[in-house]
Amino acid sequence: MGEHPITSLTGDALSAHDIAANFADLHPPLNGEQVSVQASRCLFCYDAPCVTACPTAIDIPKFIRQIATRNITGAARTILSANIMGGTCARACPTEILCEQKCVLNSGEDEPVQIGHLQRHAVDALMARNGPHPFARAAQTGKSIAIIGAGPAGLACAHDLAMRGHAVTIFEARPKPGGLNEYGLAAYKMAGGFAAREVDFILGIGGINIEYGKALGRDLALDDLRSRFDAVFLGVGLGQPRRLGIAGEDLEGVENALGFIERIRQAPDVTAIDPGQMAVVIGGGNTAIDAAVQAKRLGAASVTLAYRRGPEQMGATGWEQDLAATNGVTMVHWASPVAFAGDGKVHEVHLERTHLVDGALKGTGAQFTLPADRVYVAIGQHLADEGLDGLTMAHGKIAVDENNQTSLPGVIAGGDCIRSGEDLTVQAVADGKAAAAGIAAFMEAQNG
Ligand code: SF4
Repeated sequence: MGEHPITSLTGDALSAHDIAANFADLHPPLNGEQVSVQASRCLFCYDAPCVTACPTAIDIPKFIRQIATRNITGAARTILSANIMGGTCARACPTEILCEQKCVLNSGEDEPVQIGHLQRHAVDALMARNGPHPFARAAQTGKSIAIIGAGPAGLACAHDLAMRGHAVTIFEARPKPGGLNEYGLAAYKMAGGFAAREVDFILGIGGINIEYGKALGRDLALDDLRSRFDAVFLGVGLGQPRRLGIAGEDLEGVENALGFIERIRQAPDVTAIDPGQMAVVIGGGNTAIDAAVQAKRLGAASVTLAYRRGPEQMGATGWEQDLAATNGVTMVHWASPVAFAGDGKVHEVHLERTHLVDGALKGTGAQFTLPADRVYVAIGQHLADEGLDGLTMAHGKIAVDENNQTSLPGVIAGGDCIRSGEDLTVQAVADGKAAAAGIAAFMEAQNG
């Protein structure tokens, strides 16, 4: 892929121009000729393995064939009918472990079809036209559904329900919609305000109202919502950053990585953000990589990512790990933080070497120290349980049956609040669609 190079790996001070270049689109779109070449490479496989690798089951050979025959609008409709956030997924999906990994052309001698790029080409072309919404709503049913959370799962669920003719009200605690897409992905993956444009596009179907600044447990009660609406969807995500529980965690300069990423995403001017000169990132997922690479691209002289296990166990894909390495991030594996030290502000990170003993991770007792004026902690989040009274929980998540139905009738849940693993937009969209089908089935059963 056409990765945008960072301007400096030396730690020299970066100019505002350099930093702006570092935050440009990581994968600039293909030109017309490149699109034609990629589309012509597809073999249009029967029972295509790329489709089964996509959580939203986009009909990939169909949309590539439509692109090849210059039916770009048709291609976009094929994509968006399966995944209304096909634009974000084309930018941020780890295609290297999903559709493109399974492409039959992905052999040692050849490369997979650039499915993500082709998907982006079609969706961006349709959205750029700014024409009428490509899907029409069914006749209004008189049913109303409350959705908690305007993240990818909530928005996908809302769009599906609106298409079925239901009236949807989304309650969102934050001032903007989009969830992870708006606040939690590296800026160079979502350049040009794409997350907001995509939400505007989704809302273009009509029948969806969003009320901002409304949080479950603080401003809303589940019982009240159940009495006011025909059904409720919980797409609340995971609101609570995990803490390490070690000394010095509250020192100035120690910050949750998602908070750092959010500050970058919401900054009117990224050059005003000081990433520190010696940054240490704790964690091994894509959020850790997003924080580390962005710190480097903002001009940090050194960025070290410390992970308690080996590269094979990292949640970040191999491609993301390579991105960190090529951006000058130093990776330290088999090391776990034991304390942050400083005099009000963090100055050092103390780490202990780790290893496996009978399959269990243990400290070796050998310690070392990294100098640091910033620490970004990216060890995941857990479910904030405010307002979830009456729901059965399982393993720290909301317990659901095979139809995403919770223990309360008419309350369906989806997204990160019901499952573990990487918080991928594509999986959240799949959950939102499944939830919409579950809600529709619930309401039909109520009528029957
Ligand atoms: Fe085309 Fe590859 Fe999918 Fe086959 S597996 S349909 S070649 S993209």
